[in-house]
Amino acid sequence: MSSGGTGDGVYDFCVLGGGIVGVATAHRMLTKFPGASLALVEKESALAAHQTGHNSGVIHSGIYYPPDSLKARLCRAGAAWNKEFAAANDIPFRECGKLLVATDSAELARMRDLYERSITNGVDVEAIDAAELARREPRITGVGALFVPSTGIIDYPKVATALADQVVAMGGRVLLDTPIEAIGETDATVTISGPATSITTRTLVVCAGLQADRMARKAGIRTDFRIVPFRGEYYRLPAARADLVRTLIYPVPDPALPFLGVHLSPTIDGELTVGPNAVLGLAREGYAKGSVSARDAVDVLGFPGFHRVARAHVRTGARELRNSLFKRGYLAECRKYCPELTVADLLPHRAGIRAQAVLRDGSLVHDFLIERTPRSIHVLNAPSPAATSAMPIAEYLVDQL
Ligand SMILES: Cc1cc2nc3c(=O)[nH]c(=O)nc-3n(C[C@H](O)[C@H](O)[C@H](O)COP(=O)(O)OP(=O)(O)OC[C@H]3O[C@@H](n4cnc5c(N)ncnc54)[C@H](O)[C@@H]3O)c2cc1C
Repeated sequence: MSSGGTGDGVYDFCVLGGGIVGVATAHRMLTKFPGASLALVEKESALAAHQTGHNSGVIHSGIYYPPDSLKARLCRAGAAWNKEFAAANDIPFRECGKLLVATDSAELARMRDLYERSITNGVDVEAIDAAELARREPRITGVGALFVPSTGIIDYPKVATALADQVVAMGGRVLLDTPIEAIGETDATVTISGPATSITTRTLVVCAGLQADRMARKAGIRTDFRIVPFRGEYYRLPAARADLVRTLIYPVPDPALPFLGVHLSPTIDGELTVGPNAVLGLAREGYAKGSVSARDAVDVLGFPGFHRVARAHVRTGARELRNSLFKRGYLAECRKYCPELTVADLLPHRAGIRAQAVLRDGSLVHDFLIERTPRSIHVLNAPSPAATSAMPIAEYLVDQL
């Protein structure tokens, strides 16, 4: 995209990964160190080609996460940052608010816990009863709900592109179509190389999303985790249904799982989507249903942590798989809170694939996970809400340099 040079052929900074976390990191580096030389390196022919371009587009508020977690802190700051950045750069966004709908007494109890957590996390939230829910969203049913007014919607690839344009304007280089296959570090520099490139830098930050564990191993970081790809399949509702709801409608999540459940999401482009589910993927970057990559499948199935996690969540896993294979099961999840939906309402839509770090002992890494070597920082786990939190994550990383 551009060519800012280096004096001695060595960049001050290099960022590997052109998703929103990588682009935000490059932006933050040049903002904090104006005049530094920087290369942002991405293997695809466009930025935001993976998780950043295949998500729900929700600006999360930060209600779910343990108060002492990085997620809680960085998500709140990120929500505010996105709205300000979008307003300043003519990127459409809407603070449409979100309703978390409880559909039975067990969910109502979990909803009350979430209410307490929201207050602890400093996020404005309102508990409403079934009658008030029916007044606000007449097509949605539940025994109670939480309303989070600050939740919004945005197009994250647009945010990433605007950030990248500013990186270029600040003198950074954005190198697309540049896959990296090796990382070598000395006392003074790090060199990353691929089939057609070799780039040397004094400081490297790796934000490789679905490839984070592989990049870490190439850098010699001892990893006791593996990235397990979880597919998130969406449907789109017919245009005639686009005004079904005004706010985002979420179920009350199971706190044992890292995923938030199938939700109804108005998009910033005026569509209404439903999803995503969470099924094991056998290809980290294969978006078509049934995609299998031998290398990715061996990586997951040969990892003891995966078998432990599969055993611990066998019922949830089976349900998710059934709902992925049979539309009626998927529909049943949505009808818990929106009973009028029918199979005919679920039109095909794209899938996303989440990079979820799983430890060898079978536990899922819930928080953002960051490791460093003397000359590099690796973002190892940046699941949702990392799109919302990208700039505060970037500030956190750059503060460590
Ligand atoms: C289905 C789904 C729904 C989600 N919904 C939301 C939401 O509503 N709100 C929210 O805040 N978050 C959401 N998320 C999470 C969010 O999308 C991610 O946390 C975020 O996009 C992570 O950004 P990233 O830059 O770390 O990763 P990515 O966007 O995956 O970027 C990593 C980049 O690194 C590049 N790369 C990898 N290896 C190499 C290599 N060897 N050489 C060169 N380049 C390489 C990849 O090509 C890729 O472009 C969702 C995620 C999914 C999958």
